[in-house]
Amino acid sequence: MIDAERIAVLTGAGISTASGIPDFRGPQGVWTKDPAAEAMFDIDEYVGSRDVRVATWKHRLAVPAWTAEPNPGHLALVELERQGRLTGLVTQNVDGLHQKAGSSPSLVHELHGTVWYVDCLQCRRRIPMADVLPRLQSGDEDPACEVCGGILKSATVSFGQSLDRDVLDRAVAATEAADLFLAVGTSLQVYPAAGLCDLALNAGKPLIIVNAQQTPYDEQAATVLRTPIETTLPELVTLP
Ligand SMILES: [Zn+2]
Repeated sequence: MIDAERIAVLTGAGISTASGIPDFRGPQGVWTKDPAAEAMFDIDEYVGSRDVRVATWKHRLAVPAWTAEPNPGHLALVELERQGRLTGLVTQNVDGLHQKAGSSPSLVHELHGTVWYVDCLQCRRRIPMADVLPRLQSGDEDPACEVCGGILKSATVSFGQSLDRDVLDRAVAATEAADLFLAVGTSLQVYPAAGLCDLALNAGKPLIIVNAQQTPYDEQAATVLRTPIETTLPELVTLP
């Protein structure tokens, strides 16, 4: 049980694996099993090669995010918000499961973007993924922007793309507003997400880590839990 009044949360792939969404770098990860798939997440490869775009859209059509359901880990964070203790929910995930679980979109800061929207790389127009999936299903292998003809890409942050400055600012603000930082299901090896732990630690705030594997921050954490997220988080947020 966590009794802090104001809690900032960072989530990574580990919270969604129980919902059937594979992570990228874990033992069953997408890139671990198929290193070539990494090209699909590189902006230069994507822009420079129609073949990479076709492969990426084919992969998109089949991602489990479209049908995945939130698990008790996601729901526990909705409960934390309901208790009025959540300063912000920063996530490295692009699956939208926090919002699907019921977390307020204004409190969810998606550092790596979302698969639920699509951006035109030329005119910057943003449209719902739901508008693009039917085009893919009807055989358009590399759908172009219907306004300007530009390349379309899911609104996720690829290698070589910078993070959204506003999202990052909100993540920092949520961390600064908290008394405690809770990192869930993240290896804490990717910056700037991991840097939020430094921000909390440097301000003397306790860090709690829930993650199956070791992280570089384990020694500085007040508590490290290796137990499954979907059973651990509901217990952690329960008030006496
Ligand atoms: Zn366009």
